[in-house]
Amino acid sequence: MRFSVITLFPEVFHAYLAAGIMRRAAEKSVAVFDIIQLRDFASDRHRTVDDYPYGGGPGMVMKPEPLEKAIKYATKDGLPTLNVLVSPQGRTFDQKMAKALSEEKRRLLFICGRYEGIDERVRASLVDEEISVGDYVLTGGELPALVIIDAVVRLLPGALGDEDSLKEESFSWGILDYPHYTRPPEWNGLKVPEALLSGNHAEIARWRRKEALRRTLRNRPELIEQAGLSPKEIELIRRLKEEEYESDK
Ligand code: SAM
Repeated sequence: MRFSVITLFPEVFHAYLAAGIMRRAAEKSVAVFDIIQLRDFASDRHRTVDDYPYGGGPGMVMKPEPLEKAIKYATKDGLPTLNVLVSPQGRTFDQKMAKALSEEKRRLLFICGRYEGIDERVRASLVDEEISVGDYVLTGGELPALVIIDAVVRLLPGALGDEDSLKEESFSWGILDYPHYTRPPEWNGLKVPEALLSGNHAEIARWRRKEALRRTLRNRPELIEQAGLSPKEIELIRRLKEEEYESDK
């Protein structure tokens, strides 16, 4: 899958994409990254990419001409491209959106804002999707673009060493992940649960599902409603609620 990014801070991407799973995905050509410096498309000798806002007020606005030129450059090979603007005003990113983007046939082109954001006419005429990473404001679009790229790349076939690890992750099966333990079996007086040491696969699976439901109930109860649980699991939830109620007394 192809990813292009238009940014004033390419070094942020070079650093992150050179590590771990992102690096491996690039080495295996599962993901191809093209990081583009917006300033290269400025037309004056100061390489200006921002200007004062019409109507006054604080901050600067990213000029439309360099952005348009950078987008044309990024897509000059004519391949179909989905232009994504990262912005706190977009749809909120989640695992479903990551899955949908990972199945995109088009290249994903990310436009990273800085200052007060980009000229509205670029958003209106050149942007296909506006995506937010949450209800807070960051100084630039670099971290949001990396968050989205990371979540999408790890879903691409061949990106992870063991793709089974995707199956039971938080959100991918509608609820949160179960607790994980590694050696030693006892640490600071805290023991690994017996079920996980039993070697009995059915028992381990039962324990994990139950603990995943318990966590979801405790941390993100709203997910339970949409999780499409079986009658057995609904009964388990009822019992877990009783257990929580008893332990709170
Ligand atoms: N004036 C803008 C507003 O209030 O909506 C905020 C601009 S912000 C300081 C600069 C850039 O950071 C934005 O153009 C966007 O690209 C990026 N950004 C900041 N917060 C973000 C978020 N929650 N999700 C996605 N992008 C974000």
